[in-house]
Amino acid sequence: MTQHASHTSPASHGCALCGGNDLVPLYHALHRAIGYAFGRCRSCGLIQHVEKTGSFADAFYKNTYHDLPHKTDEPANRVAMFERILDHIEKRTGSGRLLDVGCGPGHFVAQACERGWNAEGLEPSTSAVERGRARQGIAIYQGTLTGDHALPGDLYNCVTFWNVIDQIYDPLETLVAARAHMVEGGIVAVRVPNGTVHHMLRAAVALAPGLARRFRLADMFSVHPYSFTAETLRVLLDKAGYEDVEVRNSPLSGGDPSGRRSRPGAVLVSLMKSTAAGVAALISGITGARVLLAPSLIAVARKPL
Ligand SMILES: [Zn+2]
Repeated sequence: MTQHASHTSPASHGCALCGGNDLVPLYHALHRAIGYAFGRCRSCGLIQHVEKTGSFADAFYKNTYHDLPHKTDEPANRVAMFERILDHIEKRTGSGRLLDVGCGPGHFVAQACERGWNAEGLEPSTSAVERGRARQGIAIYQGTLTGDHALPGDLYNCVTFWNVIDQIYDPLETLVAARAHMVEGGIVAVRVPNGTVHHMLRAAVALAPGLARRFRLADMFSVHPYSFTAETLRVLLDKAGYEDVEVRNSPLSGGDPSGRRSRPGAVLVSLMKSTAAGVAALISGITGARVLLAPSLIAVARKPL
């Protein structure tokens, strides 16, 4: 995924969670295969890109991301997952005003509206914003929480980040900014790839980088700037000023999120995902949710009263 790299803002090398400057290098051989160097912060343990150029948040997501072929299948693959997630959120907060940050063309916003939420979206990509407004007939504001936007002054009861916080270079600042748009007692919900699992996959593939190139094994794991574990996700939400942080295994999306395999390949990936999810659910149950090994995590927290 080296096509992401466009150096649009100055590089930073510090830890985005604790500000530490000691990142222990990881997956040496893999760096050459995937184009990103990862390190683990010696202070807080967060695994992250060593060099943060801003490319993930800027040109790529504005211009390219929503036009990638696999994005067209994604909405249908995620409907059942979002129904389960909304069931859980509604138990904590009921419904009300909802903002989906990084909403793309607004499929989740439309789904939340159908369930009775007064939902809106925020999205940096011009084409995704235009498509969402035209096709779904919903309110989508263009921009980012930490950059320019024209969000209304009304406060939200719930702000959601579906696979966003690990893909932008300023997750802490973004979550702090979200709080300013929420009612007291409002709920923030964050879904990310599980850093524990994706670290294990990268570490395994790093042992055979030649095979990684040949069989496109890099499609199996996240190459995003941050790999949040349950622990670092808790620290992130705590530092951003939220309380009652609850981290769980996320429900699964359907299909193959990398979208690059053949039909039988996608079926195989789905089978592997559901088996892994079953095992992860069992382990979570046995350990009282202390060991979370699903491919993705979901965190729900509250803005203090
Ligand atoms: Zn750190």
